[in-house]
Amino acid sequence: MELLKRLKTYSEDNAENIAFKNAYTEESITYAQLWFYSNKIAEHIDATVADDKKPIVVYGHKSPLMLATFLACVKTGHPYCPVDISMPKDRLSDIVDASETKLLIALEDTEVSCENKFTYDDIKEFVQDDNEVEISEDRFVSGSDVYYIIFTSGSTGKPKGVMITADCLDNYLYWMESMMNRSTDRKHLVYLNQAPFSFDLSVMDTYTSLFTCGTIWSMEKRLQEDMGLMHSKLKESGLNVWVSTPSFMNVCLLNKEFNGENLPEFTTFLFCGEVLTNKTARELQKRFPKAEVINTYGPTESTVAVTEVVIDESMANSEHPLSIGYDKPGTHIFIMDESYTYPGKPEGEKGEIVIAGNTVAAGYLNQPELTEDKFFKLSTPDGEMWAYKTGDEGYKENDLLYYCGRMDFQIKLNGYRIELGDIESNILEMDDVTYCVVLPIEKRGEIKGLAAFVTLDHDIEDEFEYSQTVRKYVGEKLPHYMVPKKCIVLEEMPMTNNGKADRRALKEML
Ligand code: AMP
Repeated sequence: MELLKRLKTYSEDNAENIAFKNAYTEESITYAQLWFYSNKIAEHIDATVADDKKPIVVYGHKSPLMLATFLACVKTGHPYCPVDISMPKDRLSDIVDASETKLLIALEDTEVSCENKFTYDDIKEFVQDDNEVEISEDRFVSGSDVYYIIFTSGSTGKPKGVMITADCLDNYLYWMESMMNRSTDRKHLVYLNQAPFSFDLSVMDTYTSLFTCGTIWSMEKRLQEDMGLMHSKLKESGLNVWVSTPSFMNVCLLNKEFNGENLPEFTTFLFCGEVLTNKTARELQKRFPKAEVINTYGPTESTVAVTEVVIDESMANSEHPLSIGYDKPGTHIFIMDESYTYPGKPEGEKGEIVIAGNTVAAGYLNQPELTEDKFFKLSTPDGEMWAYKTGDEGYKENDLLYYCGRMDFQIKLNGYRIELGDIESNILEMDDVTYCVVLPIEKRGEIKGLAAFVTLDHDIEDEFEYSQTVRKYVGEKLPHYMVPKKCIVLEEMPMTNNGKADRRALKEML
């Protein structure tokens, strides 16, 4: 059965169960309300942009109405494009422009304008009365229609929108459902939602929960910033499934009371997005001996995750870095060189990780050249497969995939995907900057922050003051996690023989 029709059946069967709860505000929404509210919002979307199928930008944070709004978009044949409050005004504005949307639904205040705009108060009003509205199932986004578009950092200074179709999401969810049914025989699990909706990690918890009739227990920013309150709320949460980046888990592990005795309901810890270290896995196994630790891997361009492995004690205790998993059903992962030809490199050899199969995105929105550069049709003896060049380096051993790092200037800082070129391009827009290179600040192999190196067209007296100016400028253009910790002003940029900035020399200055 098609994706949204399946969700409709689940919503009817679980009408009174809580679908989503914001753990900070305690606002919640049942499956019946979610379906009903999304129909009501859909009616107004139809009245406003009935005659186009353009994406709808949905700006906000962790209100239950965010979820209802996402569903309202796809019920009326529009992909939605989630943008979290961590995005500053300029970034939201870039996304509104890049998506060519005719409707911005802003559940939080923003000055960004659009041809049509619904505010939180509008949405509240739409869902207020009890009159039922029916939306024809023929209108639902389905098959190869784009279901959502997530914008990620782009190396040119503008974000790029990854188009995930209903088929991609459906194929991904069938795998997640079977993983959850295998991992636990309990129904109606409670899932942690920590990642903002504009990061695809949130799809892992949100949609897996909805499609297994669970409850999403969502932590908004205010709760994540108050660790004491967060830990006390966690104790009352009844959470079963943890979904986060390893970075967030490491912050939680600082509290010794975060353990299986205080949180006995946990069955599963799911990780994705960055390296899970043996140390973190070991610590979790010690504190939660009854729960499974699962490592998964994947880029936004292939619907959240495409590999998975249960980390057992021997893996965690070994000297060998943890594997990122086995290919999911419907996905084939190849290790390739620049020729990108089947079957790629043999087991044991390192190369670029190429993902082929049924969850690879349709491409980047309105960017055919970039799409052609990163996506391609891979010819195999069984026919052609749609494939994505990840830019990740890795190798396979006994069918297990291992991650060795990036092959370009993309990094992960606290789980956030950042193109260093994105920050550089934005800093270069400052009138007085003549050259800029941004580098990660690393300590014991871990990225702790960012440093910008600049040359200017004038002398400065106070580097600290100038650094603050740069940070303020970047903060207005880019999300907080992309703001460099420091800015180092150089008289001259060190260069390599082939005329590029000498990143190695710069790194030594840190
Ligand atoms: P995103 O699109 O934000 O999900 O980021 C995708 C990138 O995160 C991948 O291309 C990898 O570089 C990195 N990544 C994702 N999962 C893992 C993992 N389990 N271990 C190491 N790196 C990962």
